[in-house]
Amino acid sequence: MMVVADSELATRVVEDCPKQLLIGGEWVDAASHEVFATADPSTGRTLADVAAGGADDVDRAVAAARAAFEDRWRTSTPVERQNVLLRIADALERHAPELGMLEVREMGVPVRISAARVLAAAEVARYYAGWATKIHGETLPNSAPSPMFSYTVKEPVGVVGAIIPWNGPINTVIWKLAPALVTGCTVVLKPAEQASLSILYLGELLRELDLPPGVVNIVTGSGETAGAAIARHHDIDKVTFTGSTDTGRKILAAATGNLKRVTLELGGKSPNIVFADADLDAVMPPVMGGVFANSGQICVAGSRIYVERPVYEEFVDRAAQIARSLHVGPSLDPATEIGPIVSDEQLERVLSYLEAGSRDGARLVTGGARLTDGPLADGYFVPPTVFAEVQQSMPIAREEIFGPVASVLPFDEVDEVIARANDSPYGLGAGVWTRDVGRAHYVAGAIRSGTVWVNSYRTFDPAMPFGGYKMSGWGRELGSESLKEFLNVKAVWIATGA
Ligand code: ADP
Repeated sequence: MMVVADSELATRVVEDCPKQLLIGGEWVDAASHEVFATADPSTGRTLADVAAGGADDVDRAVAAARAAFEDRWRTSTPVERQNVLLRIADALERHAPELGMLEVREMGVPVRISAARVLAAAEVARYYAGWATKIHGETLPNSAPSPMFSYTVKEPVGVVGAIIPWNGPINTVIWKLAPALVTGCTVVLKPAEQASLSILYLGELLRELDLPPGVVNIVTGSGETAGAAIARHHDIDKVTFTGSTDTGRKILAAATGNLKRVTLELGGKSPNIVFADADLDAVMPPVMGGVFANSGQICVAGSRIYVERPVYEEFVDRAAQIARSLHVGPSLDPATEIGPIVSDEQLERVLSYLEAGSRDGARLVTGGARLTDGPLADGYFVPPTVFAEVQQSMPIAREEIFGPVASVLPFDEVDEVIARANDSPYGLGAGVWTRDVGRAHYVAGAIRSGTVWVNSYRTFDPAMPFGGYKMSGWGRELGSESLKEFLNVKAVWIATGA
């Protein structure tokens, strides 16, 4: 595909994008020939019709992935896999404008940050390329009565089903695809209904890279049909899922048929704890960015903000100022900092929490109602919203909203705030803001979550594992931790005696 100029990009990229299923290296229609509409959340208008894959299509894709695994990819050399990952990283970099633009059109990512998101995914592919030549077993001692040589080898787990959410399609895919491919697994990808196009475009880029056919297959379609067919498929060895905790539970239940391996990256209600000694000038932008970025549609949104009482009122004032200063607009507008919510269904969900917050007695400081003025009339826009005097028991302090809604709660004591931060079924991320290094370590050690950021929030690196405690997930993505999820360990014993 050609890199196209920015002015044409928004239209061209949707037209150019494949809309069929990628099975065994070919673009094909769904067996049913059915399609579904994907829409632009900035306007509510349909962008394109995409193939609605079903269980038959998943069967075909799994057969292609199995054949590619057995005949080709399982025994590919580390250097071949390294080079494929490097070529994927290059392609992501080269096509960051197009892939980013598809996220702009389909899920409402503000255009000013869209290409940078894709470049972050390229770094992940590059990181895993480096692992290809460094995955190895061990030679281990044994005390067998007659001489034996014993060693382990790491082998790919097999065919992987990857079920992807809509809130960061390219990154979520690469977080799964890169470790899967580098370990020698083959993949059936199921994008979210709301965000298929960027992943289909990526599929065409993979084809152009001469990736062996069937190593990566893409089945678009609904969660209840295509997604569920992947979760229960008897010839899939592992499912890797990112999405809601409710869906994660269903996937886990469906996976019991063949006891496939499951990794889950699920929801959160992450606490961000601000002590009175922290430098509020440094604290405010990342803490508010941690809940408003991507219109709050981030699994690790720091949406429960605990602020020590002496600076509570000042924090709330500053939070409101930031919220009001952010430019909400259509995702294609270069001035837009906060784009729309992904769909009317999600919009309704977010609005119901806004109503609940006020009804339950929290103080609405700013935001709080859908925006419909001028260019926002037909899209799904919610302003950055701040609630103060939020009680620990309120749904806006306990449930994942997936919208730009900050709940700010006062606290008085270190152990009190640790207990309240941990008082959640989730445990994905947490933030701590203090200049006291002893207190920083103490709180970081006491918080029950997969990540704790101190004087920072939402910093990521391909080498650092990411995942959840409690109902935020199973297993880890990124880093060497993720490789383990895609590998089997085989023990080999060789009798060397006479
Ligand atoms: P959301 O509710 O925000 O759309 P989900 O967790 O339901 O988030 O969706 C994440 C991904 O899971 C999507 O690709 C969706 O199609 C898929 N999905 C939804 N329901 C199921 C299911 N029962 N089995 C497998 N996948 C599903």
